Amino acid sequence: MAQACLIEDAEVKVSSEMRCREIVDLLVDYLDGSLPPETTRRLDAHLAGCSPCIAFVNTYRGTVSAVRRLSETEIPSELRERLISFLENQNRP
Ligand SMILES: [Zn+2]
Repeated sequence: MAQACLIEDAEVKVSSEMRCREIVDLLVDYLDGSLPPETTRRLDAHLAGCSPCIAFVNTYRGTVSAVRRLSETEIPSELRERLISFLENQNRP
């Protein structure tokens, strides 16, 4: 899995830039600190230039800790989808 990612990065430079949707998918691991260093770096780079995502991370942080207080389950998929569409709307020019 990690090897495939490295190959992808090397061959498809353009798509190595993260999109907001990827941020959403990786955020749980990002906040856990369990992402590979390279992925964390790319995520940080995206956050540095994307204020909707910064706001999203802050919101998500609060959501995750709220959910974890209740149980160890993951974010409900319905909530996750709503967060994703919220983000995509924010990013629309
Ligand atoms: Zn973004």
